[in-house]
Amino acid sequence: MPDREGTDYVVGSMSHTDRPEARHGVHLLAYADRFGGDLAGLRRLLTEGPLAVFEGVHVLPFFTPYDGADAGFDPVDHTVVDPRLGDWSDVQAMRDGGLDVTADVIVNHVSADSAEFRDWLARGADSPHAGMFLTFDTVFPEGGTEAGITAFYRPRAGLPFTPYQMGDGTRRLVWTTFLPSQVDLDVRHPVARDHLVRVMGTLAEGGVRTVRLDAVGYAVKTAGTDSFMTDETLSFVEEITALAHEQGLEVLVEVHAHHSQQAAVAARTDLVYDFALPPLLLHALETGETARLEEWLRVRPQNAITVLDTHDGIGVVDAGPAREWPGLMDDDDMRAVFDAAARRTDGESARASTAVAWAALPHQVNSTFYSVLGEDDEAYLLARAFQLFTPGRPQVYYVGLLAGSNDVDLFRATGVGREINRHRYSTEEIEAALDRDVVRRQLGLIRARGEHPAFAGTFACAADGHGVLVLTWTRGEHRAELRADLARRTFDTTFTATGA
Ligand code: BGC
Repeated sequence: MPDREGTDYVVGSMSHTDRPEARHGVHLLAYADRFGGDLAGLRRLLTEGPLAVFEGVHVLPFFTPYDGADAGFDPVDHTVVDPRLGDWSDVQAMRDGGLDVTADVIVNHVSADSAEFRDWLARGADSPHAGMFLTFDTVFPEGGTEAGITAFYRPRAGLPFTPYQMGDGTRRLVWTTFLPSQVDLDVRHPVARDHLVRVMGTLAEGGVRTVRLDAVGYAVKTAGTDSFMTDETLSFVEEITALAHEQGLEVLVEVHAHHSQQAAVAARTDLVYDFALPPLLLHALETGETARLEEWLRVRPQNAITVLDTHDGIGVVDAGPAREWPGLMDDDDMRAVFDAAARRTDGESARASTAVAWAALPHQVNSTFYSVLGEDDEAYLLARAFQLFTPGRPQVYYVGLLAGSNDVDLFRATGVGREINRHRYSTEEIEAALDRDVVRRQLGLIRARGEHPAFAGTFACAADGHGVLVLTWTRGEHRAELRADLARRTFDTTFTATGA
């Protein structure tokens, strides 16, 4: 039987629900308000029409409120769906429509406007929530030293504390790893643990299958360390994973970290992210050098979600050095990735990306992946095909799904760098995007990943030493192959016919 070539992969016209049970399909990452308007709108997009190609969807925070200071990552009530987006029956309807739903468990903090924090501020030790929040004194009961206080690894600039005044006039330095309005939980305290268990229980009952432990790398503070991904953090991940399993939930750990730290956590939970792949791909596409990419394919954790970008941008720190450990790329390589991005986006990615505490370079490039590649369709599809052929669970961000360009207006209007890659799509814009050749070809690849039987088989990678990597999946007579010429920025795919 002739092979199917190119990216126009079509297998009949099955609807979402009568697809064969495929567990190697692609998941979407999206905000309900920015893609579909609300939860019901997002479900319709993913279960009817040309976008009914996904196995699951990670809905970015849809709790109350979804539009706080950190785009939903600062819930006032983590157990209530924001009524402007729908309610729990809309989440259940996604699951009933055949989609595996992933949702965040924001383990590190809640909003300073939450009832629990307000009550503790008002009543102090008499509040039932006393102990839930982390203060300076909880971490440094004997007082802190300059070295101890500046040791913390922080994903934002400056020190991680914010002064708050209690009802009786005393002032407390509350731990705020992210924004001053995101107050950290004392995850070692039973009241905070109860809160997390309640949140996970509500999510499980609401139809969520996988929980993403948001920013968990920072959650455990241990005096005398940098408090990022310490042994105590790894134990906490194990404990939360066990608690989630009791609720029937699968656990995805979100941490931007050195690849060895990613591997350490991968062994203790269900899923991690492969955030090193995108910078390695960008590096290879700029230089034509494929050795590191090939090596990474050999050693990377297999229980990983692959991405090109997310709502947080394009991670770069993950492929770099940390502490005394060498990176997959060195500082110069990382700088070259930032410089190439800036060149191809007329400087916008450099303006939108900011360095964090104690770091010379930003953690991530703030830009869409399409813009970072200079809106070059072939290079973009090559990167996407490479991701889709890499072992793991592929996830596609909604802006990337529509090959979106930087939303410079949104970035300028909000002053928030990450908003450059968080466009709000109208129905008309989605329809127009779906007519574009690059988007249709990408959908063909996404469909192939979910439906072609070879992806349930064995993976192999071969290199020609001149910028070409060949990624192959085989299962019995079935074969899917990607020939990626990273030096020339071209590629082709071959799929054995499936007889559909
Ligand atoms: C989320 C970010 C968020 C941060 C704090 C991250 O890991 O992905 O969007 O700002 O956690 O909750």
